[in-house]
Amino acid sequence: MRVHVVGGGLAGSEVSRYLASRGHEVILHEMRPVKMTEVHRTGFLAELVCSNSLKSESLSNAEGLLKAEMRILGSVVLECADKARIPAGRALAVDREIFSRCVTEIVEDAGVKVVREEVSEIAPADDEIWIVSTGPATSESLTKFIESLTGYEDLYFFDAVAPIVTRDSIDMNKAFLGDRYGRGRGDYINCPMSEEEYEKLWKALVEAETIPMEDFDRKLLFERCMPIEEMAKNGKKAMLFGPLKPVGLVDPRSGKEPYAVVQLRQDNKDGTLYNVVGFQTRLKWKEQSKVLKLIPCLKNAEIVRYGVMHRNTYINSPRVLDVFMRLKGGNRIFFAGQITGVEGYVESAMSGLYVAFNVDRILRGLEPVRFPRDTMIGALTHYITEEVKAGLRPMYANFGLLPTLSNRVKSKLERRKTLSERALESLKDFLKSLKW
Ligand SMILES: Cc1cc2nc3c(=O)[nH]c(=O)nc-3n(C[C@H](O)[C@H](O)[C@H](O)COP(=O)(O)OP(=O)(O)OC[C@H]3O[C@@H](n4cnc5c(N)ncnc54)[C@H](O)[C@@H]3O)c2cc1C
Repeated sequence: MRVHVVGGGLAGSEVSRYLASRGHEVILHEMRPVKMTEVHRTGFLAELVCSNSLKSESLSNAEGLLKAEMRILGSVVLECADKARIPAGRALAVDREIFSRCVTEIVEDAGVKVVREEVSEIAPADDEIWIVSTGPATSESLTKFIESLTGYEDLYFFDAVAPIVTRDSIDMNKAFLGDRYGRGRGDYINCPMSEEEYEKLWKALVEAETIPMEDFDRKLLFERCMPIEEMAKNGKKAMLFGPLKPVGLVDPRSGKEPYAVVQLRQDNKDGTLYNVVGFQTRLKWKEQSKVLKLIPCLKNAEIVRYGVMHRNTYINSPRVLDVFMRLKGGNRIFFAGQITGVEGYVESAMSGLYVAFNVDRILRGLEPVRFPRDTMIGALTHYITEEVKAGLRPMYANFGLLPTLSNRVKSKLERRKTLSERALESLKDFLKSLKW
């Protein structure tokens, strides 16, 4: 069997190195530098398109846990990050050129044949597996082809995600459950606000600093939906006719409709995560924290995913892929990286490792396997393949995805460390059981 990987970014590089180093024939098709994307600048594999940070290494941080798990599996991205490391406190920051050059060399030295060309169609022969890891800036021709595989409704072109908070951190003494006009099953958590509280929130939104917008983002975003801060700028009461509209929501404590209501909607099947409805935003992260704290029931909310709005090509994985990231009904086509709905450099690299792990097993005549839910790899891959009513929202590593501990640990730091210890033990046991 021959493996073709399309896209030599973070995910494609991980997939290629993992499989080639296990003796499989791998051909990696990367279109740069022959054809560039809007965001890449070089011809190196695994180019970091924006920040040079791969985030925290601490085990009290979800990104740190994810990296610790990937180190156990053997990650070329982390191997090169270590070689290209520059001082940045507890974060793993790199010299981006040394980093990408290192990944390019290791992938080539592993025996991967790198072909510099754009792939526009995929039709695996009987002795081939194809893995698509073309990322958020997938070329137009391939995007059209993927659309023909998935259908238009299951291929997305931008991220418009509202912040997501943990259920545990919502102050239920200030919130109430219920749907508008009492319809439905009372699924929403409603955060009532007085006129004074609303005005403070409105003022903060109008004054908050936003992330500058690239030209290629602008058109896509405003055609489809509006950031909450832009809505606020349209007038003091605009949000009261939009996502903060109170009509049909009676607070059982007062028996009245509040002045304004922020609604929170369940975001994962386990009900541990909730998103702030209508709060898709381009505010800087520290501003999002400040603004959300002005909503009384979110005063101490733990934000596990900040809101974003940017260009992003990704597929509706729960509908299109099986749990091994394999196209449903198309046994020899897999997807990996950000195109599957994970977000971030390290998460994308992880997704490459996950797919490679199972493709290697399939090529050796073994069944593919899911990773345990209590590992960050298992939790994140589970999240992006589980179908929830609200649809897939691209996700990065966070502790809210992990099953809660059986015993309550009060300190947040201790709780996170315990979750990390449990995850690493679980991963080691899992790999041992597979004789990996
Ligand atoms: C503008 C922008 C800024 C970002 N900033 C950050 C950040 O600061 N921190 C962070 O953690 N994440 C950031 N991300 C997310 C980050 O890009 C991704 O998490 C990560 O790079 C995705 O990895 P990937 O391997 O899935 O895709 P990529 O790394 O993008 O790799 C995909 C590769 O596929 C190639 N390709 C595309 N189409 C074809 C084709 N048809 N044929 C052949 N090759 C093709 C591309 O040239 C590219 O090399 C940013 C994303 C964008 C768009």
